[in-house]
Amino acid sequence: MPESSPVLIVGAGIGGLTLALALARRGIDVTLLEKRTALEEAGAGIQLSPNASRILIDLGLGRALSRAAGEPARLAVRSGRTGALLAASPLGETMRERYGAPYYVIHRADLQMLLLDAVRSTARIRLHFGRSIRSIDRNEADVAVTAEGMSGAETFTGRALIGADGVWSKAARLTGDSSEPVFRGHVAWRGTIEASRTPPAIAQDETGLWLGPGAHLVHYPIRNGARINIVAVTENPIAERGWSRQGDAGVCRHRFRDWPEPVRALLDQVDSWLVWSLFDRSARSRWSRGRTTLLGDAAHPVLPFLAQGGALAIEDAAVLASLLDGASDVPAALARYEALRKPRAARVQEAARSNGRTYHLGFPLSAARDVVIRRTGAALTDRYSWIYGWRPDAPAA
Ligand SMILES: Cc1cc2nc3c(=O)[nH]c(=O)nc-3n(C[C@H](O)[C@H](O)[C@H](O)COP(=O)(O)OP(=O)(O)OC[C@H]3O[C@@H](n4cnc5c(N)ncnc54)[C@H](O)[C@@H]3O)c2cc1C
Repeated sequence: MPESSPVLIVGAGIGGLTLALALARRGIDVTLLEKRTALEEAGAGIQLSPNASRILIDLGLGRALSRAAGEPARLAVRSGRTGALLAASPLGETMRERYGAPYYVIHRADLQMLLLDAVRSTARIRLHFGRSIRSIDRNEADVAVTAEGMSGAETFTGRALIGADGVWSKAARLTGDSSEPVFRGHVAWRGTIEASRTPPAIAQDETGLWLGPGAHLVHYPIRNGARINIVAVTENPIAERGWSRQGDAGVCRHRFRDWPEPVRALLDQVDSWLVWSLFDRSARSRWSRGRTTLLGDAAHPVLPFLAQGGALAIEDAAVLASLLDGASDVPAALARYEALRKPRAARVQEAARSNGRTYHLGFPLSAARDVVIRRTGAALTDRYSWIYGWRPDAPAA
């Protein structure tokens, strides 16, 4: 297969879109296949830590990001039992100074739109909506994927195929890994409100994290402070597959009925909730087979307790693009990508799981946790400098 043949990407989520841009920027043609007929993101926010924002800025998205994203002044951690402030750690300018890139918060639809705009204005990228992959054929010289669309099946051929199709990855199944993600009893409730409806006791310019028994709550501003994004994570024995369903506000309020008044007042303002069952899996034992590999949630979904799933997908994209740039041996480049990324993905996954355990501790263990948080104080985010300080040119964990 000539070096000019495209790289095939399955899935136009954060990971697939970023990879398409990163490859095109290096002069590599891309065919991007997305099963949805249009990209519509949930009405929810996403945090983009410096390890991810730096990559998007390097891809030329700095201006678009600075228009759409905000930088909360600090991370404030509070007890969901007593309401007490446990610690506050500066974000904003401090993160920029420390890590050389902003800690952004942004509406998912805005992030997707700016990635999509960039993809659409890049001649090297051919984006096909409404194409759900059905089969993958690999051989030594190339790889072909057949995708089902409105007008029947179509086959695309390229030098490599990257499965960026999320936690339920069909690309992974078609290339030999049929393991299923695991539900560990966490459900995320997501909603947004107009900032003007924020209860006075909730600061609008910070990322707030409230820790309580069996649940936690995160809020931060999006849309240049015009809206507040709220994520409440509760424990629930029953899972529902799929990205989202409507949640019953009464159920959410009931779950937080014993929490401090500012939390209850905040939850009261949310008119509509989307609910996600959170699925986890260990980083797959093998991502790459010949000319195919996996990226982002397809390879290593991350529980959202560290806000790193999207960031890792963006990191994957940067590393993979640099390894495919000029690669004469594509399978070797994909194997190298997997070897570089797997330890970091596993470490971040484990750190997120660990947060899930400590965030939800009940009394009295929560009291010991709170002492540690108080002692750490403003240095709270420093223990993640190995995450935020990561750079694609020094890709080890
Ligand atoms: C509650 C919650 C909060 C989160 N908060 C953060 C945060 O603050 N920061 C952060 O970095 N991460 C966060 N994450 C994680 C982040 O959302 C995911 O890790 C990220 O979206 C993964 O991106 P991806 O591109 O790998 O997969 P996805 O976003 O799942 O994209 C996969 C794409 O593939 C397409 N697709 C699927 N199957 C097929 C097929 N057969 N054929 C073609 N296309 C297909 C899908 O339609 C989709 O467009 C959070 C997650 C949750 C649940």
